[in-house]
Amino acid sequence: MTTFHIITLFPNAFKSYTGESIIARAIKNKKIKINFYNPRDFTKDKHKRVDRKPYGGGPGMVLEAESVLKAAEKAIGRKKKVKIIFLSPNGKQFDNLYAKKLAEIYKDIIIISGRYEGIDARVKKILRAESISIGPYVLTGGELPAMIILDAVSRQIKGVLGNQSSIEEERIASRDVYTRPEVLIYKGKKYSAPKVLLSGHHKKIEDWREKK
Ligand code: SAM
Repeated sequence: MTTFHIITLFPNAFKSYTGESIIARAIKNKKIKINFYNPRDFTKDKHKRVDRKPYGGGPGMVLEAESVLKAAEKAIGRKKKVKIIFLSPNGKQFDNLYAKKLAEIYKDIIIISGRYEGIDARVKKILRAESISIGPYVLTGGELPAMIILDAVSRQIKGVLGNQSSIEEERIASRDVYTRPEVLIYKGKKYSAPKVLLSGHHKKIEDWREKK
């Protein structure tokens, strides 16, 4: 089983997505587990504040290092081999190959998601975390990036996608797909599914998919 340890100020943001479909089934079947750690539970501040003014000035607030580090310590526990991901729009681009490697190598993956203007950069250094971006755009927080990584990694874990072998998945993942009806009529216009896909001729279907 692979455990995702997610450090976030908003654990509830994950409930809906992880409670549905393949991810929910993977949790139920004990292929994956998700633990949440909220930095607010680790702050000394009596009002549970974890955002601080940035040194050097500038807009917005910064998530303080200490409570995030304490949350990470809790997630690491006594584990010897953990991968720690520090989410940032400036990080290394996340892709499927990286997801596959994570799934193969690690049983414990810690994902640190930020908010506001980001997390105090010393956290990344202290934890020797890898800075990862899910794409060239800036989101308001790391919850969606964390869910994207969780999803992409989970589907690389054996048994999560049911009967589909990962090789088959690689072959068809980026192809156009079609289902009933054979001829779709939309606003008076007809749209046919490719004939070859209805032929039942596996070799021809394979060739067609290769070409596509
Ligand atoms: N200027 C900040 C920076 O460059 O990190 C922007 C922080 S962003 C508003 C708040 C948080 O959202 C970040 O700390 C990160 O956790 C997350 N985030 C936003 N966009 C992201 C992206 N493209 N990839 C990964 N994480 C992202």
